[in-house]
Amino acid sequence: MDHKTREDLLKLFKSKLNRAMKFYLETCSRCGVCTHACHVHESMPQLKYIATYRAETVRRIYKKYFKIQGRLIPWLGESKALTDVALEELYEAAYSCTGCRRCMVYCPHGIDTQMIMSIAKLLLIGANAEPEILTMLADTSIEKGKSLELFKESFLNGLKRLEAEVVKKWRMEAGETPIPVDVVGADLLYVALAGAHSIIPAAAVFNAAGESWTLSFFEAVNFGAFVGDPTKTKLILDRIIEEAKRLKVKEVCICECGTAYRVMKQLSGKQPFKVSSITEVHARYLREGRIKLDRSRFRDPITYHDPCQIARNGGVIDEPRYVLQQLTDNFREMSPDPRYNWCCGGGGGLVALGEETLDFRMKSASVKVEQIRESGAKILATACENCHTQLRNLNDHYKMNVEVEFLSSMVADALVQ
Ligand code: SF4
Ligand code: SF4
Repeated sequence: MDHKTREDLLKLFKSKLNRAMKFYLETCSRCGVCTHACHVHESMPQLKYIATYRAETVRRIYKKYFKIQGRLIPWLGESKALTDVALEELYEAAYSCTGCRRCMVYCPHGIDTQMIMSIAKLLLIGANAEPEILTMLADTSIEKGKSLELFKESFLNGLKRLEAEVVKKWRMEAGETPIPVDVVGADLLYVALAGAHSIIPAAAVFNAAGESWTLSFFEAVNFGAFVGDPTKTKLILDRIIEEAKRLKVKEVCICECGTAYRVMKQLSGKQPFKVSSITEVHARYLREGRIKLDRSRFRDPITYHDPCQIARNGGVIDEPRYVLQQLTDNFREMSPDPRYNWCCGGGGGLVALGEETLDFRMKSASVKVEQIRESGAKILATACENCHTQLRNLNDHYKMNVEVEFLSSMVADALVQ
C-alpha cells in the first residue's frame, strides 16, 4: 500500500471517530463475555469469530495512528500498521459479522462491534476492496432516484398485472384502486421491496383496513447500508424522504426489510411523518378492530424469528407477538427470548452476496437451527426479506422441515372477509 492510499484511508478512519466510537475503541476490558454471544463463533468456534477479536483488527490500527503510545512504542501498545494484509483481515472480520449486535447486549460496557465494523467497511470501500456487487446495487438504486421518469411507466404497467391478485385476497368495490400510487395527501406511504410478494399481501391488508395509502416508486432496501457507505446510504434514504414530503403523507410504512426499517427509523432525522414497520401497522389495525383474522387458518404450531434489525436494534418486539396472538392459538416462543435471539446468519449484506456466502452462512448459523428445532414449530414466521431467504436456505440445508413464511403474508391470507 502506498503512502497516499494509507493517508486517504486514515482520513476516512478519522471521519468515524465520534465520541461513541472512541469509547468503543478504548474501553474493552477483555473480559471475554462476548465470546459466546456471537452465533458465528458458537457455530464455528474459532478465534477470528470472537466479537472482540474482530474489533481488535480495527482497534490496533486505531492505536497505531491515533494514540500516542502506539505511535511512539508500537510494540507495547499492541498497534498494527494499515497494510494490504491488514485490509484482508478487516474484510474477513467485517464480512463474517452480520451486524446483529447480540454481542453488545452481553458486553458489560455495551461495546457495539457492528459500529466498529463500520470502520472496517469504510476502509474497504476507500481501498476499492469492498464486495463490488453491493456497490453496484447501491449505485443502481441511486440512479433510479435520479431518473424516476424513465422507469415510471414500466413500474405502473407491472402494478396493473398485480391488481387481480390483490382483489383475490380482499374484494373491493367497483371504482376503488387496488394499488394506489402517487396519491398526494394519502395518510400512509408504503415502501415495498421489488417483487409481488412484498406488494400484494400488503395492499390487501391496507385495503381491508380502509387505509388511505399510496405505494412508493422506490424499493425499501438500502444497499448503501449493507456495504457500509454512509454517503450512498443517505442518498438512497433521501429518495424516500423526498417522496414522502412531496406526497404530504403522515406515516411512512416500511415493508418486511430489517435494514430498510432501521435506516429509515434511525437515520431519517426529524420529519413531518412518522416511521413504522409493517408489523406495527398490522398490530395497530388489529387493536383498532380495522381488520379481523381467522384463527383457524393456520393450525400447525408457529414460531417467530425476530429480525435483529427490527427487534433487538429497532425495538419492535411486542407487535409481532400481538399479531400472532390474533392469528393462532399455537404460538411457540423461541428460547432465548427476543433481546437475546440468535441472528439468522444472513444480515450485514451476506444474503445479498448470494452463493458466494452460502457455505459460510450455513455453517455459521447452526445455533439458529437448533433454536428453531427446539421450538417444535412447523411454521417459521419472520418479518424480514433477508431473514426469510436465509431461513429458507437453512431449512433446505439442514432439512428442518418447516414452512418459512412472511408474517404479513400470513395476515393477508387470514383476513376475515
Ligand atoms: S454483531 Fe453479531 S455477528 Fe457481529 S460480532 Fe457481534 S454477535 Fe457476532
Ligand atoms: S464483552 Fe465487551 S468488554 Fe468484554 S471482551 Fe467483549 S467487547 Fe470487550
